[in-house]
Parts: sequence; C-alpha cells; structure tokens
Amino acid sequence: MLTPLSAASGSQAHQATTPAGKSLSVVIPMHNEEANLAALFLRLIPVLEDIGLPFEIICVDDGSRDGTFAALAFHQAREPRLKLLRLSRNFGKEAAMSAGLRHASGDAVILMDGDLQHPPEIIITFVEQWRQGMQMVYGVRASRLTDPWMRRFLTKVYYRLLDNMSEVTLPRGAGDFRLLDRSVVDALNAMPERNRFMKGLFSWVGFRQVAVPFEVAQRHAGASTFNFWRLLRFGLDGVASFSNVPLRVWSWLGIALSVPSFFYGVVIITKTIMFGRDTPGYASLMVAVLFLGGLQLIGLGVLGDYLGRVFTEVKGRPMYLVNEKVGFDDAPPADRS
Ligand code: UDP
Ligand code: MG
Repeated sequence: MLTPLSAASGSQAHQATTPAGKSLSVVIPMHNEEANLAALFLRLIPVLEDIGLPFEIICVDDGSRDGTFAALAFHQAREPRLKLLRLSRNFGKEAAMSAGLRHASGDAVILMDGDLQHPPEIIITFVEQWRQGMQMVYGVRASRLTDPWMRRFLTKVYYRLLDNMSEVTLPRGAGDFRLLDRSVVDALNAMPERNRFMKGLFSWVGFRQVAVPFEVAQRHAGASTFNFWRLLRFGLDGVASFSNVPLRVWSWLGIALSVPSFFYGVVIITKTIMFGRDTPGYASLMVAVLFLGGLQLIGLGVLGDYLGRVFTEVKGRPMYLVNEKVGFDDAPPADRS
C-alpha cells in the first residue's frame, strides 16, 4: 500500500460514509492540562471542520493529578467526536502517544501537544501535503526562541552525537507534532518494543516524509514537565534504543589501553632484569589502578543499562494500561499494548 490516496486500510466505517473516503484522527497526550482544554478545543475544532473530512479527537489522559479527566468528560458530553482514554497512571508522553495511535481509526493520524504550543492551524498544511501523497508530514520549529540557550546548545550536540552513532537521522527541530498516514501508523503499532523513543521510530520507519516549518508558541497555561533530568533520561533512552556504540566502544578502549600496557610491561621487566629492583612507582601504580578501575565501572554501568533494557523487553509488561474509555463506539482492537 504505497499511495495514501488509494483506498487504503483504516476505518472502513468512515470510508462508507464520506465521498472522499478519508477521515482524520487527532491524538493528544495530556498530563495536567485542565487549564488548556477549553482554549485548545476552541481553536482545534473549527480548523478540523474547515478541512471538511470527518474526524475524531482522541485525548489520552496520562495520569493527570488535576481535573483534566473531569474537564475532558465535560467537553465529551457536548462533542461526540471527542474520545477519551484514561491511563491507569502516568506512563509518560511516549506511552500516551502509543496508546492514542493504537486506538485511532483515521486514515491519517495527527499527533499534537495539548498545551497549544503546536498551533492547530498548521494541520491544514499537513493535510494538504498528505493529500498530495506524503505519508508523514512533520512540523519543524522555525526557531528555538522559546528554549533557553543552554537547552538549545545541548540539543544541538545531542543530535549530532546520535546521528553519528546510530542508523537513524533525526531531522533538526522536528518534534512530535506530525501527521502520519495509516500505513505509518500500522507500522508503528506493529513494533513490539516497550522503550519507545518515538522521534527515533518516526525516522526509522521511513516512508515518504516532508517537513513543514512552524513557530512554536509559548505554553498556553501550566508548566512543562520536562526538566533537565527528564530530558537527559529521554536523551539517553534515544541513544540506547538506536545505537550500540556505547556497548562496543569498550572493546576499542580496552585494546587502546592494553597494547601500550603490554609494551610498558616489557620495558619494566627488562629494566628490572638489567638494573635490579626499583621500588618507587607508587604514583604511577595508583594512577593506573584508579584510572582503569574507573573505566571498568563505567563499562559495567553501560552494560547494566543495556541489560536493564533487555530485562524490560523480556518481562513483556504492557506499555500502558487503559483504565477508562469514553466515546469509542466499538470495542477497540487492544486495551493494552
Ligand atoms: N505529557 C504527557 N505525559 C507526561 C508528560 C507530558 O502526556 O508524562 C504531555 C503534555 O500534557 C503535553 C505534551 O505531553 O501535551 C508535551 O508536554 P510538555 O508541554 O510538558 O513538554 P514540552 O512542551 O516542554 O516538550
Ligand atoms: Mg509543551
């Protein structure tokens, strides 16, 4: 199924009801977004209505501690095109997006944040590109002015590192704001992995992709939950999911250290035989012991990290659990990942 414009898979029900035979799903992960809901729907729904295709909006409540779900239910009662998934606790944005993707029935699925940092009007351009045959349309930030300079700098370094170490290339400035054709959604849904670094997966699947620049807005209300440590963990997730370099680098380092050490050993033995015993050497001994000890611990740590990931996959626990569903008419394919 290569052309998204041919009658592809997806929701047969929608195809029967519309002449164009196409429908859209918007998936929005939400964690404590109560204060943004009204403003979000007020801007999003008119945009979707203008596009003229039947649509559903799937809001995934990712274990919010504020009144997000109650507010969502309030809106849902008045707007049947709204569908709600309530996860049993906070599983993180990647899992919430995966849950939404699994429950979406549209021929194209749009992923966006619930804090209005992703302007809904851009969706019109996304859909235009999709109609012209693109299978993935992703928003790239025209500038990073809303980010502090330190975050901008670290992001740049990180992207370069990951490009060099892994098989995926992350397009600069691309985030999770994007449109996915049904063929891409099916490919993503078929991936069994539990450690989900979505940015990497989006690039890994391939398909016909195109970038659309947009200006990231300030958060409408509330605060971002991604602080430095969470971003760091997220970044390391990306490296470990798409690169084996941290695992392999130790063999090279080992060779680089042991070859000179061997020759140094020969030098010491020869010296001892020729000139007798030479006791000083406490400093060099200490340096070598500490340096190598440190390296070994780092190597062990890296091994442990990858082993932990293997352990997570092997346990086979679901990526998320759905506690409650509102507005889905038929029983969706899967309740759990
Ligand atoms: N989000 C989520 N689960 C989380 C954290 C965030 O579903 O554990 C959602 C959040 O509600 C928002 C989106 O992911 O819709 C982006 O989060 P945020 O604005 O905090 O991140 P940033 O914009 O700083 O990347
Ligand atoms: Mg945000």
